[in-house]
Amino acid sequence: MVYHASPARYESMEYRRCGRSGLKLPAVSLGLWHNFGDTTLLENSRQLLRRAFDLGITHFDLANNYGPPPGSAELNFGRILKEDFLPYRDELIISSKAGYTMWDGPYGDWGSKKYLVSSLDQSLRRMGLEYVDIFYHHRPDPDTPLEETMAALDLLVRQGKALYIGLSNYPAERARQAFEILNQLGTPCLIHQPKYSMYERGIEAQLLDTLAEHGVGSIAFSPLAGGQLTDRYLHGIPEDSRAASGSRFLNPEQLTEEKLAQVRALNALAQRRGQKLSQMALAWALRGDRVTSVLIGASKTSQIDDAVGMLQNRDFSPQELEEIEKILM
Ligand code: NDP
Repeated sequence: MVYHASPARYESMEYRRCGRSGLKLPAVSLGLWHNFGDTTLLENSRQLLRRAFDLGITHFDLANNYGPPPGSAELNFGRILKEDFLPYRDELIISSKAGYTMWDGPYGDWGSKKYLVSSLDQSLRRMGLEYVDIFYHHRPDPDTPLEETMAALDLLVRQGKALYIGLSNYPAERARQAFEILNQLGTPCLIHQPKYSMYERGIEAQLLDTLAEHGVGSIAFSPLAGGQLTDRYLHGIPEDSRAASGSRFLNPEQLTEEKLAQVRALNALAQRRGQKLSQMALAWALRGDRVTSVLIGASKTSQIDDAVGMLQNRDFSPQELEEIEKILM
């Protein structure tokens, strides 16, 4: 069936300015790391993208290696884009990345100019795009001079293949050095993509201050800790869940009794707030103005509904914040 985006798509989403840039991002963005590769039915992936856009999620996040197999998420996204979303291209912020292993040999990994330039060319071909809105260096490279990696990102913007530049997984000091090089080159960094959730709070120590100082926005990936900060695992491990899928990133051993006790306590607090745990976890990650957007994953459209429903109740009392700290201790 031909897709017509909901005319109400801009009615409930909040759009937040990304650092000191001109770009606004939706408070909730959708990542295509899981559920868009060749092991997922294309129709399921299509429904996720349609529901997201209908709810005002204008930002879809990809990377060269998302799948499985690597590259297939971009290919499948490219097909759905062509079939459903081309009339809406200018309403979308599409990102991709390079930095992890993508192809054999010395030029398919890390942060050389050779890798970044050819990888983005491949990503554009897979997605059928002329440009991405944001191109990220996916992880810092300890061996390539930072000047070379940043010059490659600047070049890609000048070539019109990316509108903005982002960095992901860079620790605070390395990020600061990179921002200074990018500023000198005249292509300021738009955004940093770090891991951030109630269970991963490393960025609170320094990175968030560094981003604020440099006017760089942030998009928090895995804000639900891959599903741990939801009601998914309260009564065992469902067969269709990430923890049951043999994932390297979330396995049943991580769901310890101690962790589940925390999740139950957080769930009870969320219920008192009149929302789901997943919604409270997203609202918490967005509290204040330092995180621009939360970057969720979803295997079902109802999970996207939940995420956007969070916007109805985003505020925390000091007592609630304190209770969360106590539970997480
Ligand atoms: P989340 O922490 O949001 O976990 C998403 C998973 O949680 C879903 O796939 C689903 O798992 C479960 N879930 C989501 N909503 C609900 C709900 N309402 N109720 C119950 N369970 C729910 O994020 P991801 O780890 O998926 O990462 C999100 C995105 O971040 C990626 O797609 C990618 O774009 C980006 N990312 C970037 C990285 C980087 O290095 N830059 C690294 C990792 C991610 P289930 O399958 O069990 O239904």
